[in-house]
Amino acid sequence: MKHEDAQQALAEALACLDRGELDAGLAAATQAAAQATEPATQARAGWLQALFTFRRGDYPGVLALAEGLSPMLRAHSSDDFRELQRIVAFAGAESGRFDLALAAAYEVHALAEATGLPGPRSQALNTLGICFERMGDPWQAERLLREALAIAREGAVPRELFGALNNLCAVLIGSYYLQRGNEVTAASLAALERALPLAEEMVGFNTADGDPYWRIISEGNLGEVLVHLGERDRSRALLDRALAEALRLGFGPQAQRMHCSLAEWALRHATAERARDVLRALWAEAGGQPLMPMTELRAQHALYQAFKALGDTTAALQHLEKHSELLRERIVQQLRAQSEQFITRVEAEQSRREVERQRARAQSLEDDTRRDPLTGLGNRRAVDHHLPALLGSTAAAGRPMTLAILDLDHFKQINDQHGHLVGDRVLLAIAQLLRECVRQADLVARIGGEEFLAVLPDADEARAREICERIRQRVAGHDWAAVAPGLAVTLSAGFAGAPPYDEAALATRADVALYRAKALGRNRVEAG
Ligand code: GH3
Ligand code: MG
Ligand code: MG
Repeated sequence: MKHEDAQQALAEALACLDRGELDAGLAAATQAAAQATEPATQARAGWLQALFTFRRGDYPGVLALAEGLSPMLRAHSSDDFRELQRIVAFAGAESGRFDLALAAAYEVHALAEATGLPGPRSQALNTLGICFERMGDPWQAERLLREALAIAREGAVPRELFGALNNLCAVLIGSYYLQRGNEVTAASLAALERALPLAEEMVGFNTADGDPYWRIISEGNLGEVLVHLGERDRSRALLDRALAEALRLGFGPQAQRMHCSLAEWALRHATAERARDVLRALWAEAGGQPLMPMTELRAQHALYQAFKALGDTTAALQHLEKHSELLRERIVQQLRAQSEQFITRVEAEQSRREVERQRARAQSLEDDTRRDPLTGLGNRRAVDHHLPALLGSTAAAGRPMTLAILDLDHFKQINDQHGHLVGDRVLLAIAQLLRECVRQADLVARIGGEEFLAVLPDADEARAREICERIRQRVAGHDWAAVAPGLAVTLSAGFAGAPPYDEAALATRADVALYRAKALGRNRVEAG
C-alpha cells in the first residue's frame, strides 16, 4: 500500500524533526515524497525535505529542491508553500542569492498578510528582516525584526515567538561584528547589550519545548553574546554543551558558529594556541567543504588574532589578507544587491510619469467607447455614464432640469435624394449647431442615427423651450444649399422637465412630445 507507506514515512520524518535527527529525517521525508499519491502528503513531505536540507546547511540543495517543489506546493497547500518560501529566503540570503531570497521573502509577506494571522505576519517580517541583514543593512533589519517580535508577542505560537527572538538576536550579534572591526566600539557593545535579554529569553524557552534545534541555537546565541561581554564561565559552559549537541545531531552551520565562538573565548580567556586548535578543528570537521560565508569571515579574523598573539606574523598576515579579501567580496556582493533594490529619484520620476501616461491612455480608450465617431458627440454609453450623476446632483440640490430629444425630419428622404454622404455631412453640421446652442455644463449626445439628446441642467420649462426653439430655428435657417443644392433640413423636438428626477420617465415623456411634434407637422417643439 503506497499510500500507507507514504503516511508512515511522513510520520517518521516528523518524529525525526522532534528528535533533531537530520539524516534520518531527510531520508524519511524523501521516501514520503516519492511514495505519496495525494497532493497534501506530497506537499508536507516536500516542505520537510527542504527543512532538513536547510538545517544541514546545504543551501544550494534547498534552492534546487524548492525549484522543483514550488509549483506543486503553490497549487496544493498555501501554508506549506509559505513555509517553503521562507526556507528559500533564508537559504538564498545565507548563500548570497539575494534576488531569490527577496523574491521569496516578499511572496511570504503577501501570503502572510492574506492570512491576517499574527504568527505568519510576524514570520514574514522576520524573513524579510534577515534578507536585509544579509544584504548588509542591519538597521533596516532591526526595525523589521522588532516589529516582527512585537506582533509575535501579541498573538503568535511559541515557535513563531522563538523565531522572532532568534532572528533579532542574530541580527544584533551580526551588527556587533559589523561595527566592531578590529576594536570594540561603543556602538558595537550597545548592539550586544540589546541582544543579551533576547538571548536569555530564548534559553528560558527551552525548558518548555524540547526541540533540540532550538536548544542548540539559543544556547549558542547566549554563549556567543556572553563571550564578547566577557562572561568567562557561563559562556564556556553554554558553548561546550551547544557544540557537543550540534556535532552529535549534525547541525553543521551551528557547529561552525560554536567553534568560532569558542576560539574567540580562548583568545580572551585561555591561550592563542588553544584558539588556533579550535579553528583547525573547525576546518577539519568541514572536511574540505567551504565554510558558511559569515563563519569563515569570523574564523579568518580569529586566526589572524591567534597567530599575531603567537608571534607568527607571516601566518597572521595571511589570515588578515584572506579576511579582508572575503570581506571585500561580501561587501561588493551586498552593495550590488542593494543597488538592485534602490532606484534613483530620476528613475522614480520616470516611472511615475510612465504610470500617468498609461492611465491617460486607458482613460482615452475608455472615452473613445463613449464617443460617436462620426460627429464626435457623446453616444448612448456617454449618456448612461454621465446622466445618473447629473440627475442625482440636481435632485439633491432641488434644481430644475430638462431632457430633450431632437430628431431630424424626413431624413430618410434626404439620404435618398442627396446620397448618404450628404446625409453624413448634415449630421456633422447638426452636431456643430447643437454644440453652439448649449452651454458647457449641458450634455449633448447622438443616441440614434438621426436622433439627438440634450440634457439641460438648471433649465425650467420656459428656458428649455427657448433653447429647443433656438436650435430648431438655427437648423431650419442654416445655409443647407451650401452642403448640397436644393437641400433643406429641419428637426422636431420633444422635451420634458424634472422633477421627477427619473431618467426613464423623462425620456418617455420627451419621446411622446417628439411624436406629437412629428404628428403636428414637424419642424416644431413640443413639451411633454
Ligand atoms: P421622421 O421625420 O419621421 O423622423 O422621418 P425620418 O426619415 O427621419 O425617420 P426614419 O427613422 O424613417 O429614418 C431615419 C433615417 O436616418 C434612416 C437612416 O438611413 C438614416 N440614418 C441613420 N443613421 C445614419 C447615418 O449615420 N448617416 C446617414 N447618412 N443616414 C443615417
Ligand atoms: Mg427622423
Ligand atoms: Mg428617428
